[in-house]
Amino acid sequence: MSETEKKIELTTAAQYLKGVGPGRTAALEQLGIRMVEDLLNYFPRDWAFIPPATAIKDIEPGQAACVIGQIERTDWRPWRRKPFFEVILADTTGVCRILWFNGRYLIKQLSPGQKLLVYGKTSVYKHHLQFTNPKFHIAPAEETGDSDVFSGPVYPASAEITSWQIKRIVKTSLDKLCALVPELFDRAFLKKNDLIERARAYEWIHNPTDEKQLAKAKRRLKYDELFLMQLGLALKRHHLRHTAPATPLPCSEEIDHRIRRRFPFLLTEDQDAVIGEIVADLAKTVPMNRLLQGDVGSGKTVVALYAALTAVANKQQVAIMAPTEILARQHYQSIERYLKNSKVRRVLLVGGIPQLKRGTILHQIQSGEVDIVVGTVALIQEDVDFANLALVIIDEQHKFGVHQRAMLRKGKSPHCLVMTATPIPRTLTMTAFGDLDVSIIRHAPPGRGEVITRQVHPKNRTAALEFIRKQLRAGRQAYFVYPRIDAETSAESANDDVKAAVDEHRALKAAFSEYNVALLHGQMEARQKEQTMADFRAGKIQALVSTVVIEVGVDVPNATMMVIENAEMFGLAQLHQLRGRIGRGTNKSYCFLFSQSDDETAIARLDIMTRSNDGFDIAEQDLRLRGPGELFSARQHGLGDLKIASIVGDFELLNLARRDAFEMIQNDPSLNKNQNAALRKTLIDKFGSSLGLVDIG
Ligand code: ADP
Ligand code: MG
Repeated sequence: MSETEKKIELTTAAQYLKGVGPGRTAALEQLGIRMVEDLLNYFPRDWAFIPPATAIKDIEPGQAACVIGQIERTDWRPWRRKPFFEVILADTTGVCRILWFNGRYLIKQLSPGQKLLVYGKTSVYKHHLQFTNPKFHIAPAEETGDSDVFSGPVYPASAEITSWQIKRIVKTSLDKLCALVPELFDRAFLKKNDLIERARAYEWIHNPTDEKQLAKAKRRLKYDELFLMQLGLALKRHHLRHTAPATPLPCSEEIDHRIRRRFPFLLTEDQDAVIGEIVADLAKTVPMNRLLQGDVGSGKTVVALYAALTAVANKQQVAIMAPTEILARQHYQSIERYLKNSKVRRVLLVGGIPQLKRGTILHQIQSGEVDIVVGTVALIQEDVDFANLALVIIDEQHKFGVHQRAMLRKGKSPHCLVMTATPIPRTLTMTAFGDLDVSIIRHAPPGRGEVITRQVHPKNRTAALEFIRKQLRAGRQAYFVYPRIDAETSAESANDDVKAAVDEHRALKAAFSEYNVALLHGQMEARQKEQTMADFRAGKIQALVSTVVIEVGVDVPNATMMVIENAEMFGLAQLHQLRGRIGRGTNKSYCFLFSQSDDETAIARLDIMTRSNDGFDIAEQDLRLRGPGELFSARQHGLGDLKIASIVGDFELLNLARRDAFEMIQNDPSLNKNQNAALRKTLIDKFGSSLGLVDIG
């Protein structure tokens, strides 16, 4: 079959396109372009709007014009009252003069012999055509031609293929390719949302004649991208909710009273609100899939226990899982505190339990002799056999996103509550976690001490340490946090700036010789770690030098000081989590951010920490400063990365797309209606079976 006869479809290999030989095929493939469709979705990174070039002799002075010519002479005139850089440019029809005032920077860029495009306003000077401060582009030597070289889309290129070459390939086939693009929505829908046709959007994104067309194309393509993502999430959610039913766990006034009596305090307004949402979910046969967000210490454990006891009251089993054994033990301990003298049968199942005892426990779980099982996520992974597991509670602490959201079981699904102490900005709960319902505890229980945060310049370091000494003398305790364990084992060992906990431990021991200064890091043995933590909790240790391991579940109300070294190396969310370790008692607490950096953004970021104690506020600002980064990777939601839309910059469009997508799934849960056929196909092509979409077809 000859090249020209090959029938082009969206899935046709790119090599069958005009102008794509074997060399280009390989170059395109390196850019991820294999099929025609990939090429259509290879969006320009920029666009320039430059009119066609005019011959110099045809230009009417006074108008804006574009000229392409060769530089005959350049001259820098610094002695003029207003210094300028001058170029004499010639094409085959004449010459013109170009001035750039204060153009000293051009001395290095422009020289005789170069091919140059200039675009701007013209005038006459001594019978010569003149441009003043025009825009310009230097043409690559091998390219001849017209303003087209400079105008239009600019594609992300590589060493093997230039933007111009990609542009030519796209342009040659664009009409034919756009004709293949299916429309996803009907006219009424497009009109309602002020969207242009999809095929038109592809045409205009690759070849817009002006900014207006470009804006319309972008809006449509961004909408589609966000809509498809949200549709995927809506489907996933629907799938989770309707595949296998859950055991309804209704709460009654009596159960409510019985549970609340267990807590030695009144629940906060936020806790009550969140419990209300959970109780409503639990009463249904649709499995709950809820994300509970709240800073460390905001009172999530109590909420989780409330949910667990509701299940137990319904004679069902509950699994409570934490990411680490330490955390699992801590959960177990706090549950024990609340459940003293209760008939609820609970058990801790973690590694290190003797085989025989473990066997007994497993048997009890299997026969329904145990109500609440606390452990690590291995509980689910190892497929511990439960008699009647109706609720799974997962505390993800800071490693959220790794949980197995789909707790689908054969026959029955348990209700699922995921807790995280990482404040996730709303933009992300709508995307990365868009298939979950979200509950938030914003305000911590009363009685917490204030936390004051300060950036500490190296010159004030000694003063800060003296302040800490005074507080230690008053009986308080302190954390010193370092980014790494020791100078040798780190990949960044070349960087002397980075303080290593091991080295610093030695220095601090000397500086605070009258106190017990201990070291804690992730590479220590578990037993040793636990001993150190226990000693710190008991007040036998006054200062704890550590790496970020203390992030994970430590609650020592008497620790009121935290020094974070090289604070600029941490993300804001992480700094906020670290800081959450202090301010847990009634005393005033102090967080010192030590940093030698004089980088402006670094200082600005740390400044956010000194001004805000609201985790959500901090997370949102960090998102703006640094972009979604790893918080929003394809891995997290399995729905591909965004190519053109930005969850931060296109938040309004995201909202619109989300509303529309969820509405669509509500009306047509399997996308079986005729008018949604193209949409269904696109979705399956895009996400494959990852959403349980196979069930649809
Ligand atoms: P989280 O799990 O969100 O880190 P916890 O549930 O462990 O928070 O609660 C932190 C501390 O606050 C615990 O010591 C707990 O006893 C206490 N607490 C929780 N809720 C309340 C409340 N409503 N009033 C007073 N103290 C509370
Ligand atoms: Mg907790």
